[in-house]
Amino acid sequence: MFEDIPVDVSPMYEGERIRSANMFVELAGPKSIGAELVQVKDNVEDGKIEVKGLELADMKEGEIYPLGILIEIQGEKLEKELEGVIERRTHELCNYIKGFMHLNQRDQIWCRVSKEAKEAGFKLSHLAKALSILFREEFPIIETISITILTDKAEVEAFLEKAESLYEERDARARELSDEDVDVFYGCVMCQSFAPTHVCVVTPDRTALCGAINWFDCRAAAKMDPEGPIFEIEKGAIIDEVKGEYENVNLVVADRSQGNFDRVYLHSVFEYPHTSCGCFEAVAFYIPELDGIGIVDRDFKGETPLGLPFSAMAGQCSGGKQVEGFTGLSLEYMRSPKFLQADGGYERVVWLPKDIKDALTDYIPTDLIEKIPTEENVNNIKEIKTFLEEKEHPILERLKASTEEIEPDEKFVESSEVENIDASPVAYVPEMTLPTSRGIKITLKNAQIYAEKVIIKRE
Ligand code: SF4
Repeated sequence: MFEDIPVDVSPMYEGERIRSANMFVELAGPKSIGAELVQVKDNVEDGKIEVKGLELADMKEGEIYPLGILIEIQGEKLEKELEGVIERRTHELCNYIKGFMHLNQRDQIWCRVSKEAKEAGFKLSHLAKALSILFREEFPIIETISITILTDKAEVEAFLEKAESLYEERDARARELSDEDVDVFYGCVMCQSFAPTHVCVVTPDRTALCGAINWFDCRAAAKMDPEGPIFEIEKGAIIDEVKGEYENVNLVVADRSQGNFDRVYLHSVFEYPHTSCGCFEAVAFYIPELDGIGIVDRDFKGETPLGLPFSAMAGQCSGGKQVEGFTGLSLEYMRSPKFLQADGGYERVVWLPKDIKDALTDYIPTDLIEKIPTEENVNNIKEIKTFLEEKEHPILERLKASTEEIEPDEKFVESSEVENIDASPVAYVPEMTLPTSRGIKITLKNAQIYAEKVIIKRE
C-alpha cells in the first residue's frame, strides 16, 4: 500500500521527535506560516495529489518554509460538521510517517522533515499520498479524497486567510449554544496516545482545549463512530453549576482517566481543574501574590511576568495532569460567558499577551479592557501590582477583602494543636508551599505528616 513511499508509515512512529540537529527543513511553525484544512466537497477527483510550490528536493537544508495542507473529501455519509474532527486527525496521521513530525493543529501547525527521510528520497508528494491512504483507512465513509500541499508563500498566505475564515465560521456556530441548552456533553481521548490520563470534556461553552473541536464537531463524530475516541457524556445531576461540576461527568472522567481523577471543574483553575494534554492553545495560571490569573498562549514568544515562557508554563500541567492553579484552554473558551466563571472570569485576569487581548476585545467586559495589563505595560509582578492600582482593577477589592478576612490569631496555628497525635508520622517535609486561592501563601516548615491510611500501588 505504501510501497511507493521510501520511508516507513506506521503508528509506531507517532512519538518521533525531530530535533533541529537532525532536521532537513522546518515547515510552518512559529517562524513561518501554515495551516491545515479539511473540506467536504462535491466532485472531488479521487487520488489527486498536487504540490504547489517548492518540493523538498528544491529546498535548502536548515531553512524554514511555509506550509498548507488542503484535504478535500467526498462521501454520501460525510457531513460538513465532520470537517473539524477529521481535520484533527491530520496531526496523528502525519506522525505515522517516519521522518516527518507534525505538531499542533489548524493555523498553529509546525512540521519538520528529518535528514534521513530526505536522503531516503522522501518528498512532499509522498506526504500527500500517505495521508490520502491513511484518511481512507481511518474513515471508510470517505469515498474520494484529493490532497494539495502548498509551499509557495503567496499560495499559503491566501490559503491561511481562507482557512482562518472557515475556522471562525465553525467556532461562531458553537457560540449560539450554551451548557444549559443541552443534555449531553462529549468526551474526547484522542490525545491519550501521549497524555494517557487526559480526558477532554467538550461542552457548548467549553470548546476543546486544542481549539479544533467544538460541541457540534463532537456530536457529528460520536454519531459517525460511537465506539471511537469521541463519545457522549450524559450531563446527569448538576453538583455545582458555577464551577461546572456534574455527577456523571465525574464518573466518566474517572473511568476514562483509568481512575486517576474523579472530579473536574469545567470553569475553574482551582481544586479540580480540567486535565491538560499538551496541545492546548493557552494556559491559565494562578499568580498567588496578586490572587489573580494570568493567561499565556502558544504564540507568545517572551516570558510571562513569572519569568517563565509558555513552554515552561505548559510543562507544569501537560501530559494529562490535573494541577491546581493551572489549566490548558482554547482561545475560543475565552469568548464564552462561562470563561473561568467560578474564579471571577475576566475580573480575576491580571495579565494577558497583547495579541490575545486584541483578538478578544469584543469578549472582555468593556470596563476591564484598560485595566488588564499586557507585556507592553508590565514585566513583573511588582509592575502588575502598580498597574492594577493605577487602573483600579477589581482584583484589588478582592485582595483587600481576603486580607481583612484573616484574623491576626488565624495567622499562626499553635503547635500544641498537633502535639498530642498518638501515631508516628508517615513523612517529614523540610519545606513545602501549599497552593491557595485567597491571596495568601502557606508554607509548611519542618512538617510531620500523619495519615489515617497509606496506600501503596505498583505502577
Ligand atoms: Fe481531543 Fe482534547 Fe486532544 Fe483536542 S485536545 S484532540 S479534543 S483530547
